[in-house]
Amino acid sequence: MVDASAEFDVALPWLAAPLQQALREQRSHALLVHGPSGVGQFELALGLAQGWLCEAESSPVNPSPLRPCGRCAACHLVRARSHPDLLVLVPEALRAALGWEPDADADDVGDKASKAKPSKDIKVEAVRSAVAFAQTTSARGRGKVVVLHPAERMNGISANTLLKTLEEPPGEARFVLSSGAPDALLPTIRSRCQAVTLTLPATEIAIEWLRSQGVADPAVLLAAAGGQPQDALTWSREGVDAALWSQLPMLVQRGASTAAAGWPLPRLIGSLQKLCHDALCVAAGAAPRYFPAASLKGATRRGEPAATQPLHVWQRELQRAARFAEHPWNAGLLAESLVEQGRSALQSAWRREP
Ligand SMILES: [Zn+2]
Repeated sequence: MVDASAEFDVALPWLAAPLQQALREQRSHALLVHGPSGVGQFELALGLAQGWLCEAESSPVNPSPLRPCGRCAACHLVRARSHPDLLVLVPEALRAALGWEPDADADDVGDKASKAKPSKDIKVEAVRSAVAFAQTTSARGRGKVVVLHPAERMNGISANTLLKTLEEPPGEARFVLSSGAPDALLPTIRSRCQAVTLTLPATEIAIEWLRSQGVADPAVLLAAAGGQPQDALTWSREGVDAALWSQLPMLVQRGASTAAAGWPLPRLIGSLQKLCHDALCVAAGAAPRYFPAASLKGATRRGEPAATQPLHVWQRELQRAARFAEHPWNAGLLAESLVEQGRSALQSAWRREP
């Protein structure tokens, strides 16, 4: 495989091939990048925008230069977040995580109440401003681009406002929506966009990238994050390391609810779900997916099917808790109770080797 990342500008190494393919195959003025979270949907959407706006000139030596080139004025402007023909709409609450802090004169329409809790939604005022932006003339002559991420954060009114523009696009404007939950989008939005599917990157590329970001023992964290490298990096930066992750099965089996004290509830529930999944795998004689096999080694299957029943009950409880994880009535109590259920389920499903 050609290492295209060496020849053109791409934020994450595994996006090189999908970006070039999407730029080649793009037919519609509206694209929907979708796939699991944590694999670079936003970066791919930005890469598409940069590729369209790139001003790399063709020459007799290089009749079809790779875009985005990363060297032209337009590429520099995109990277500096100041390209006049690019508008990026992301919820206020996500900007820091995406490295897309608002600048003074940009797209903070609808975010006037800066003292309030940052919004997780893409507000209708912001969508209206994007529609107006798309209708203006391109400043640098390569059209206008609107990037909207994550698209499922538009409510019905916002989505309908955008829909009209997707139906009757202004001349030279292009839209890139990205979403980790395309099913949550209006079907009419989905049907007006050309789909670009992003999948999990190859394990070796993801591990190499995590290592280059300073993550120790990256294979363990990558598996913990279900193969999603950006999530693995976030965890690492928030203090989850391979050693802690590997100890989690043992800690939960001992009922140590302080194991993950301080973790945000959605992450704790997600981690317990992974542990429950792996415990069921081990009980069925299959390989675990999220935890190192060695971390589950002290436990062996009891053999009798009834012993896994508590794991299934725990699994259902975790699913139910996950639905309310963003708004729990009492996060501490819930966490304690879920760990306690896990302790009893693991102890009945496994017995320690003598
Ligand atoms: Zn360029």
